[in-house]
Amino acid sequence: MSGRVLLSIISLRKCPLCLDRVISPLRITSSSCLQYVAKSTMSSKFVMADRIRGTDKNVWVEFGRLATEHKAINLGQGFPDMRPPQHVVDALCRAATSDNVYMHQYTRSYGHPRLVSALAKLYSPLIGRPIDPMTNTLVSVGAYGALFCTIQGLINPGDEVIIIEPYFDCYEPMVRVAGGVPVFIPLRPTKSGSRLSSADWKLDPEELRSKFTAKTKAFILNTPSNPLGKVFSQEELEMIANLCIENDTICVADEVYEWLVFNGSKHIKIASLPGMWERTVTIGSAGKTFSVTGWKLGWAVGPEPLVHALQTMHQNCTFTCPTPLQEAVAEGLEREMSLFGSPECYLQSLAREIQPKRDALVDLLEQLGMVPTVPQGSYFIMADYSNMNISVPDDGTSDPADFKFVRWMTKEKKVSAIPPSAFYSKENKDLGEKYLRFCFIKEDSTLEKAGKILKEWHASL
Ligand code: PMP
Ligand code: GLN
Repeated sequence: MSGRVLLSIISLRKCPLCLDRVISPLRITSSSCLQYVAKSTMSSKFVMADRIRGTDKNVWVEFGRLATEHKAINLGQGFPDMRPPQHVVDALCRAATSDNVYMHQYTRSYGHPRLVSALAKLYSPLIGRPIDPMTNTLVSVGAYGALFCTIQGLINPGDEVIIIEPYFDCYEPMVRVAGGVPVFIPLRPTKSGSRLSSADWKLDPEELRSKFTAKTKAFILNTPSNPLGKVFSQEELEMIANLCIENDTICVADEVYEWLVFNGSKHIKIASLPGMWERTVTIGSAGKTFSVTGWKLGWAVGPEPLVHALQTMHQNCTFTCPTPLQEAVAEGLEREMSLFGSPECYLQSLAREIQPKRDALVDLLEQLGMVPTVPQGSYFIMADYSNMNISVPDDGTSDPADFKFVRWMTKEKKVSAIPPSAFYSKENKDLGEKYLRFCFIKEDSTLEKAGKILKEWHASL
């Protein structure tokens, strides 16, 4: 094989397939583009399956690596650098050191019994109906796993799935890989000029109605949303619910930031609205709930016929999730439920704790000349940097301006963010490229370091 590779690769160049990684002239290296090597030296059997072609670029992979490589202060990928609640960490230690040998073995495929019981107890009052732990829930590898099982388990080739822009980036490739057709509808800012709220970003009701067709199978709602931090109001949810009911559409409600809502806003579960339980899959994440993103444990809650499809998908791909992690999250949720209404309740106090961080970063971004959107929920801020009039050197790619800006800022200023055009469809990338997304669930010292760099940069302009 190496002879063929050497013959076919004669000079150092960018891969003509992905225009990204370098093809080494001497040997296949870890930085060689494997797609190119496979295509140029082997039969077509060795390239990726058609259904995943075009989904290989990933904003988290690129910008996570870049931040690490340049030792930048990472306000990009969404994860806390603060300690998670001690009681959940202690619960994991107890599970891992328990005398119960079964704590180290496979547990029930669709969810560890103690965890699904806790989920049912948590969500029954929030959704306003009794939830059966065995038939109405699935525990997955993160909310990603729940999204994957929902989309793979319910979408047929040709089904249309409505997605609100800006959207958490994996929705689009997940729908495409299932053979579905994503149909996009953008939220648009209804104000301009100074600082705005995520509540000022709205859907046009007539445009929304026009997106539903006889082929619409599902609607993906993300509230509080990533990257905008929009918390959909009762009125907005009713509008979406009515359209889902009228058009007999499934609603996928990604609510991973359900506890991260700032004062003045209220998170409402769309599954709790009349006529919505039977058509809604609600998705949550232990990573977001307990600030343990590395635990990668998530769940879906919904009516039996829908959840059965998810369970069917799950049993043949992941089968089951790690037992000690499920035990610890179950114990954590049980404890949190007993603390509801008290100041020690982590779920109810985290938003209060991080709101000053949000406000400080909003002020800072504004001082720098950006126009931030103040999020009602989540832990991200989108800020329009176009008024700063900073031109960055062209990096030779055909990527949107925000990608070039963040690459440059990470390398030169050692502060990283996420380019929001990654959260828009190909046709609407221009709506996102004048923004940056910053994550603020960070220690004050981290935010202060980033602030110092950004202020010095601003002073030097
Ligand atoms: N949905 C949204 C909106 C997210 O921001 C994320 C990232 N946490 C996920 C789903 C995936 O969550 P998890 O890390 O639990 O897989
Ligand atoms: N949900 C997180 C974010 O939006 C991380 C996503 C990821 O790492 N894939 O930043």
